[in-house]
Amino acid sequence: MSDFKLLIDGELVDGASTFDVVNPATEQAFAKCPKADEALLNRAVAAAKAAFPAWAALSFDERAGYVNRLADALEARIDEFARLLTSEQGKPLNQAAYEIGGSAYVLRAFAAMRIKDKVLRDENGNKVIEHRTPLGVCASITPWNFPVVLLMNKLGACLIAGNTMVAKPAPTTPLTTLLFGEVAKDILPKGVFNVVCDENELGPLITAHPDIAKVAFTGSTGTGKKVMASSASTVKRVTLELGGNDAAIVLDDVSPAVAAEKIYNGAMTNAGQICVAIKRAYVPEGMYDEFCTEIAKLANNAVVDDGTQQGTTVGPIQNKMQYDKVKGLLEDAKSRGTVIAGGDIPDRAGYFIPPTIIGDLDDDAPLVKEEQFGPVLPVLKYSDIEDVIARANDSEFGLGGTVWGKDLDRAMDVARRIDTGTLWVNQHLAIDPNIPFRGVKQSGLGGELGEAGLNEYTQAHIINAVSLENA
Ligand code: NAD
Repeated sequence: MSDFKLLIDGELVDGASTFDVVNPATEQAFAKCPKADEALLNRAVAAAKAAFPAWAALSFDERAGYVNRLADALEARIDEFARLLTSEQGKPLNQAAYEIGGSAYVLRAFAAMRIKDKVLRDENGNKVIEHRTPLGVCASITPWNFPVVLLMNKLGACLIAGNTMVAKPAPTTPLTTLLFGEVAKDILPKGVFNVVCDENELGPLITAHPDIAKVAFTGSTGTGKKVMASSASTVKRVTLELGGNDAAIVLDDVSPAVAAEKIYNGAMTNAGQICVAIKRAYVPEGMYDEFCTEIAKLANNAVVDDGTQQGTTVGPIQNKMQYDKVKGLLEDAKSRGTVIAGGDIPDRAGYFIPPTIIGDLDDDAPLVKEEQFGPVLPVLKYSDIEDVIARANDSEFGLGGTVWGKDLDRAMDVARRIDTGTLWVNQHLAIDPNIPFRGVKQSGLGGELGEAGLNEYTQAHIINAVSLENA
């Protein structure tokens, strides 16, 4: 038994067993999560399949009413959601509340979207229309860094387009999704939204399931490749939001203090556990020392602590596996480069790693080449703009990135030459539900958000008609 329940066919149900959920700030188990087996997954899929025709038959306005009520309910319980999110994920309470508020915003943005027929031709009695219909049952598979908003990016689009959903959160952060299931139970028709939890066993069953039409996956590139391979057996629709190794390029007309502050925040928010966190910073040689002094001040002033403590700016790494990975990259980088700030792992309970800045690394150091997904940032020098563009692009990833420059035209010219899905100029993390978001190269396939993201939850049909007189 657990305090939390799965949501299947409009009912809160126990799992086949339970597993512990650990608070990363204390390393203590603080809740039991219900675990679904294959039979419970199949029940959830069957419920979503049965609910689909009636949900798809509603008008956009009717579905929007439901989605807006979900947003209202999230906002009404924002403190409760934020506290639970901090307990399972580790982020400071204010950042947790921001994620919940942002989740309601995303739902409302999708509730306002509409899909209309597109007239491709209307001439000489020939009318060609592209008509979009929902797909059926969609599965959401989410990671542990933003468990709530990454689900809402999927759910908002899925529901407004007329689909139903089975959601599977990450094993280390399942509770906020289960609480959302409780909320949704009293708002949505039964079976429209279902939640199942696992310890990494259900993924392959979901991706191969014959009654699931689409998998919307956010997670690592390694798991994304498995999702794509497994989805092939049923030619499932799949969208993959995967890893990144985003470069920040500082141009020589920016104040080092301004660039340092923006880049620090872009690298350290959520303890660096953001797919589009700044993961390597390239700074002109002539500005390097001043930039390092400024960013070191910020790192040294960080308050690294339990996210429930007032004033905490950086919480723990979310789980032991990721903590060990970041620690390994940090120790390796210390042996190759210079520690500019941070670097010492505190001797205390919790998966804490202080914001760390490392200089003087070669481009082939693991901290530069791999996705660290933690608060450890390499700062690299450059002297030639062509060279730094080539170095930024020398990655199998292509998710995001930033360019910082006073001359906006020049900064945008550099941005155009970076091979990533999104490139921000003089800002970071400006993710907006009305603007498409997607990764290129091994950072993703398809995308989410905006009209393009909404269309990923539909199938386009062509209706090509002529009048009998012209036939
Ligand atoms: P992960 O790939 O380990 O897990 C993600 C999800 O996949 C979890 O729910 C997990 O249980 C599930 N899963 C595990 N094995 C599976 C399988 N064989 N088939 C289907 N699903 C399976 O990722 P993570 O460590 O939880 O998250 C961190 C990664 O996510 C980072 O690489 C980060 O960059 C990426 N990420 C990307 C975006 C984006 O929008 N591009 C956003 C956030 C995070």
